[in-house]
Amino acid sequence: TSFGYKQVREDEKSKLVGNVFSSVASSYDLMNDLMSVGLHRLWKDRLVSKLNPFPGMKHLDVAGGTGDVAFRVLDRIKSVGHRAMQGTLTATEEDTHIYVCDINPNMLNVGKKRAAERGYSEEHCLSWIQGDAEALSFEDGSMDGYTIAFGIRNVTHIEKVLSEAHRVLKRGGRFLCLELSHVDAPVFKEIYDVYSFSVIPTVGELVTGDRQSYQYLVESIRRFPEQEKFAQMIQEAGFERVEYENLVGGVVAIHSGLKL
Ligand code: SAM
Repeated sequence: TSFGYKQVREDEKSKLVGNVFSSVASSYDLMNDLMSVGLHRLWKDRLVSKLNPFPGMKHLDVAGGTGDVAFRVLDRIKSVGHRAMQGTLTATEEDTHIYVCDINPNMLNVGKKRAAERGYSEEHCLSWIQGDAEALSFEDGSMDGYTIAFGIRNVTHIEKVLSEAHRVLKRGGRFLCLELSHVDAPVFKEIYDVYSFSVIPTVGELVTGDRQSYQYLVESIRRFPEQEKFAQMIQEAGFERVEYENLVGGVVAIHSGLKL
């Protein structure tokens, strides 16, 4: 069965992930808000504040089809840029470039649509690129920053994603990953287990009519490496000063590392 703790076969996994995101792309925003009771917005804010974006930066947001992280990076750069206008700053806002990479064109389309709604459609600093996190099309040492939010859990080879992140970053570049992680506080863990095993699939079914996809998502959280183990994998990919921050007791964690 695919719902036990058994490993899902790799080809099945890619197919399942593809189905999950094709079927939920349209109700994606609603489900994000429902499942996280709106908290995913704050978690993404935190991710981007840790990134510390700056005008002129080249940034890659992987698995970022909906643009949620990219829009935050851009908004922050704009506010930094305006404050810096009075001071001296060589890098200009126009040099800024944010690349959104996602394997699924449906998700990229959701993102593009939202960019247009937000008035970003005319901006040259935002690119939407279909691609696989495990084999990026970007050049070595070309990015100042790399983010992946709720994306690495579903890939087939986490190690490949991490080594690609390391490859495309410049020296001094920062890697940041926001992902659903592991809770270990006793009582909270029990509550969270009930929530994720019962509430999420039920709400998912009610909203999208697709219980199986949400059941799969919950299983994928269980299979994902724990905080310490994932930090070790990031280190093994070549990153330094690797650390992580738990949010809501480990419901999500933000891992970070530097390419030095
Ligand atoms: N980052 C966005 C956010 O936080 O709202 C989207 C997260 S969504 C849960 C996961 C995304 O990962 C989907 O858009 C999916 O298409 C994408 N994805 C899955 N496997 C991928 C891969 N191998 N390479 C790139 N993107 C992938």
